[in-house]
Amino acid sequence: MASLNIRNVEKHYGDLRTLKNVNIDIEDGDFLVLLGPSGCGKSTLLSAIAGLAPVTSGEIVIDGLVVNDIESADRDIAMVFQSYALYPTMTVRRNLTFGMRVRGASRQEQDEAVKRVAAVLQLGELLDRKPSQLSGGQRQRVAMGRAMVRQPKIFLFDEPLSNLDAKLRTDMRAEIKKLHQREKTTTVYVTHDQIEAMTLATKIVVMKGGEVQQIGSPQDIYEHPNNLFIARFIGSPAMNCIAGTLEVEGPAVFFRGHSKGRDGLRINLGPMTDGYRAFVGAAVVLGVRPEWLAYAPIGSALDLIDAVIDVVEPTGSDNFVLLEARGETFMARFAPGVGTPGQHVGLAIDIDKTLLFDAQSEQRIPR
Ligand code: ADP
Ligand code: MG
Repeated sequence: MASLNIRNVEKHYGDLRTLKNVNIDIEDGDFLVLLGPSGCGKSTLLSAIAGLAPVTSGEIVIDGLVVNDIESADRDIAMVFQSYALYPTMTVRRNLTFGMRVRGASRQEQDEAVKRVAAVLQLGELLDRKPSQLSGGQRQRVAMGRAMVRQPKIFLFDEPLSNLDAKLRTDMRAEIKKLHQREKTTTVYVTHDQIEAMTLATKIVVMKGGEVQQIGSPQDIYEHPNNLFIARFIGSPAMNCIAGTLEVEGPAVFFRGHSKGRDGLRINLGPMTDGYRAFVGAAVVLGVRPEWLAYAPIGSALDLIDAVIDVVEPTGSDNFVLLEARGETFMARFAPGVGTPGQHVGLAIDIDKTLLFDAQSEQRIPR
């Protein structure tokens, strides 16, 4: 187990700045997920931590020691790739111990390591098989086992589940989480899948174009995304993002949707705040997650938004409902069985959670 600090790291390929001044602190036992769209620099950063590719500038620090000039093999890290990279002609047992044999570990050490890892990952039955005789999930477990035989300081995973089908991916995700809860090995895990990030991470780093956009707990990033990119990238169905302006009326501040001008949607955001005051009259974007909208029958006492249901998408556990309110479209998450197309409803918005973004800079506006 170890801490890991990434300090002012830059990686350039010619004119291309693949990593731009990246700073991340990972504490002992953290499960850190690097999340971002394809091409944003996740694998490049992981390779830099692993020592597979040198950084252009900045420092990689493991347990307080700058490791920039330390060979990959001597950094005491273990990496699991998307393509499991198993040796096809070797049995599972020999795949597991390959690295140990290279380092000249004794027969007894090898046997003990295989026993420990096989027990944790349930590989006991598979030790004498070749990779071609394993399912995708089993191969993935062997690849993890190979990383675990060494009890490294840090685990690095690069999209290890993306080659598995949906069911297996969910199962393996839970296994990886269980493993981390038990072993507590510091982990850096790369994915472009926001659900994987939300479910696994103790800490998420959202990246875009080689830059860190936000670092925080999954819940914090979900509820308080720093900008519209993060707001839209995380959450499924996506956050409702409605363009409009802020208006003042008495002590209150109102959001007015752009789609229908003076007749547009108007939402009372409560008493004016210091943060919102500077944006009165400016172009803003209202951010509302589908579950921050609640169904209420028309005519109840709350400050409700008149809306008409367009489409209902039942998932079994929820009804995702597309509504129109004065020219603006919302996706809401209702209970199963609630809502029918054409129905008029009053929507209640959880104003305490609702977010505002500056339409120009796309940054979140603090209250
Ligand atoms: P991700 O893993 O987030 O999909 P990568 O780290 O693989 O992204 O790549 C980030 C950017 O760096 C991409 O634009 C990619 O084309 C570029 N890149 C990665 N490796 C190299 C390389 N060896 N030479 C030149 N460009 C590279
Ligand atoms: Mg990658």
